[in-house]
Parts: sequence; C-alpha cells; structure tokens
Amino acid sequence: EENQRVRNSQQTIARLASQDQLTGLSNRRFAEESYTRLYQRCLRDEHPLAVFFLDLDNFKPVNDSLGHAAGDLLLQQLSGRLQAISRADDVLCRFGGDEFLMMVALDGEEEQLTEIAQSIKAAATTPFFIMQTQIEISGSVGIALAPEHGTEFNTLCKHADLAMYQAKHEGRSVYRIYNDDMGRANIDKFNLMTQIRQALKDKQFRLFYQPKMDIRSGRVCGVEALIRWPQPDGTYIAPDDFIPLAESSGVIADIGHWVLQEACEACMRWRQQGHGSVGVAVNLSYVQFRDGLLERSVQQVLRQSGLPSSALELELTESMLIGEGDDISRQLSAIHQMGVSFSIDDFGTGYSNLGYLRRFNASRLKIDKSFITDLGVSQRDEPLVRAIIQMAASLGLHSVAEGVEDEATLNLLRQLGCDEAQGYFWSRALPEHEFIAWLKQHNTISELPHSSEL
Ligand code: C2E
Ligand code: CA
Ligand code: CA
Repeated sequence: EENQRVRNSQQTIARLASQDQLTGLSNRRFAEESYTRLYQRCLRDEHPLAVFFLDLDNFKPVNDSLGHAAGDLLLQQLSGRLQAISRADDVLCRFGGDEFLMMVALDGEEEQLTEIAQSIKAAATTPFFIMQTQIEISGSVGIALAPEHGTEFNTLCKHADLAMYQAKHEGRSVYRIYNDDMGRANIDKFNLMTQIRQALKDKQFRLFYQPKMDIRSGRVCGVEALIRWPQPDGTYIAPDDFIPLAESSGVIADIGHWVLQEACEACMRWRQQGHGSVGVAVNLSYVQFRDGLLERSVQQVLRQSGLPSSALELELTESMLIGEGDDISRQLSAIHQMGVSFSIDDFGTGYSNLGYLRRFNASRLKIDKSFITDLGVSQRDEPLVRAIIQMAASLGLHSVAEGVEDEATLNLLRQLGCDEAQGYFWSRALPEHEFIAWLKQHNTISELPHSSEL
C-alpha cells in the first residue's frame, strides 16, 4: 500500500514534470524525450522528421489589455486547435510563453509540409472568442528537418526558431524552412543583438547633432539628434546598420527612450550655457509606440530635463502613421497636447497619403534626401520636389529638404519656396562639443518658429 502511494506520487510528479500546467500539452523537457523516440522511428522507416516552430505575433498586447486570464484562455484554445490538427504519433509541446513546437514524421509528399504549416498558422490566425471579445492574432512558423538540418533536438529547435524569426521578418503571414545561410546570417545578427543590449547597458551610444537651417534667413532653426555607436577602433556603426535589428528585438524601446532623454538634456544644457534656444528633433521607431510607451516616455523626459515641450520635435515616418491606427493616433494627440511638435520624415518614400498629415498635426514635412541629392545636377526630381513643397504649403506645413550638399541645390530649393534645409553643405552630424563650436562660429541662432508660443 505504501509502495502504491509512492508509485502514484511518482507518476503524478512525472506527469506534472512533463506537462505544461496551463495547456496540458507536453513541456519542452518531455518533448525532448519524445523526439528521441520519434527520430528513431523515422530513421527506421526512412522518413524525414519535421520540426514546426510556432511563435505568436502580438500576443503581448492581449495580455496587457485584456489581462493574463484572457491570455491564458487564448493559449488554451490555441492548444486545443493544435491538438486537433496533430495526429497520434506527432509530438506537440508548449515550448515556452507563446511558442509551440510540433514534430511530425513525414510520410507523404512534399506538400505535406506546406499543409501542416498552413494548418498550424490557421490555428493561430482564426479569431478567438474570449470573454465575449473577438481577438485576432497571428503566428509565424519556422521549419527544420531531421536529418537534413541536424539530428539533435536542440539543434533542430534552434534552426526552426531561426526560420521562424526569418518568417516573422518577411511579413506576418508566411512560414519558412531553415537553410544554412539563415544560420550564418543570424548567428552574426544574434551576436550583434547581444552587443546592442550590452552597449545600451554600458552607455556606449552617443548622440550627434546636425543643424537645420532656415533657408530665407540663413539661420539655424533647429537641430536633429542622430544616434551613433562608437567602436573601440574609433569608427562608428551607422544607425541604419543596427536600428532595424534593435527594432526586431524590441531593445529599440529602451534605446529610443535613452535618445529622447539625452537629446532633451543636451538641448537644455545649451540653453543654460547661452547657446540660444534652438529646439531639438528626435527620430522615433514604430516600436516605441507599443503599450503607450511613447506618451509616458515623452512626459518623463520633459519633466526630468526641464526642457519646454515646444523645444522638442519628434520625427515620424509615413509608414508609422499608416500602420497601426488607433493607439498611435491617441498617443500622438496626447503628445501634441503637451506642446511637442511632429515632422514627417523621409517624405515621398512611403505612401504619401495626405489624410493623415492633417490628422497627426504635423508641422513639418521632410523631403527625403533621395529626391534632393541630384537636384543641383539633374532636372528629374524637380517636379516632385516642387509638388511636395507646394502641397506642404497648402496644408500649412513647413517643408524641409534633407541631404543638401551644395549651393546649387540650395538655390534651387530657395526658388521652389522650400522653408528649411539640412545637409553636409552646412554641417554633418557632429558630437556635442563640436556642434557647440559650430554654433558659436555661426552665432546666428534663432528661435524655432513656434517656440514663442509658450
Ligand atoms: P534620417 O532621419 O533620414 O536622418 C538623415 C540621415 O541623413 C542621417 O544619417 C544624416 O547623417 C544623413 N545626412 C544628413 N545630411 C546629409 C547630406 O547632406 N548628404 C547625405 N548623403 N546624408 C546626409 P544617419 O545619421 O546615418 O541616420 C540614418 C537613419 O537612421 C536616420 O535617417 C534615421 O532614420 C535613423 N536614426 C538615426 N538616429 C536615430 C535614433 O536616434 N532613433 C531612431 N529610431 N532612428 C535613428
Ligand atoms: Ca530624421
Ligand atoms: Ca529623413
């Protein structure tokens, strides 16, 4: 009888230890044991084994907005759906958080892979009904095959995960099969990502500053903060080489907050040191809007730095404004209420849809530098630039040309009625002390047009 009790509790422990408590699916540890058995069988039958890795997109907002109970229900419903599509011999497990793994002995044609991937994906994208609310999410699926992509459980999981990561990047509705290039490219990316996180911790990032000029008066009318990542050898990694990666890992939210804080503090320093009351413009990433982050971030940096809100400008791109909808609009109008202004960056490269320019209360339109670069030498882009400047004027927005490198371009822009310009013709982005020196030399700083409103 005593033995029986011990056996029972051992079984209970074994079950508990092998099961995910929330969904009742296998957990990762048990999946590894099952893999070994399944792979032996595949070897014997000469079938490949496929590992499908599912990761949910935008699951976190469900948890954040509807509460963890709703998130749990969603995971349970999803598990039910996944169970319904898996066959008796398949191994299904909850890998962690919102990640699921399905291992299948392939015994059919090649289409079998696609079919399974699609049904896994459908399990995630079919709307959920939870607490009287319809919730739509999606998922990304990555696939690795044994023995082709590895024979160890951990290797296969890692490769399927890399393929999933790739799928996520290519838009939210594809699946991807692992290939070796992915591994190489992503190992570098993985290292870089680790370094980015470390760089933030170690305060390695720097802000450089580039002046923005009022074309009519020839005076400095603003400054744009641009991030730099100094390397031990004295070179810099350009933002285009690490911002996208920082975005994909979410660490951009913290970097972005640091940029805002640093820029506001610097701008406040210049005021206190008598370098004029020029305002500062900061570039944003769409990731910074998540979960109401930006609104809080802006509020905090303005309070901490003491910088008047009218001296802060946020640069947004068109794709940011079009993508997500409501919460972004809400945050932007809240931030606008604080007195912060907006400019639309890289204008012309996106949708160039005018409706939202009004909705988002932008005060400036920055014409993308790809249209400005050749303006001095070729006529090709002139009609477009002219049209953008006119349109900006008719909407009551200031037009800004970026990437002005020579006088011919400046003269043309002046003729076209462009309001402001920025570019190597005046200065590159400079470290703070060099920027101050540049300012002193110019010594013609004027107020941002709207800073008198405060
Ligand atoms: P952007 O916002 O369009 O910034 C303008 C880029 O053009 C800057 O490159 C600037 O150095 C460069 N530039 C300025 N004048 C000229 C010129 O006359 N000729 C040429 N050829 N280039 C000029 P940078 O600093 O490498 O930044 C690249 C992009 O990285 C930025 O494009 C922006 O989208 C992003 N970025 C920079 N800093 C931040 C940041 O703090 N946060 C975020 N989220 N993105 C940032
Ligand atoms: Ca910009
Ligand atoms: Ca730009």
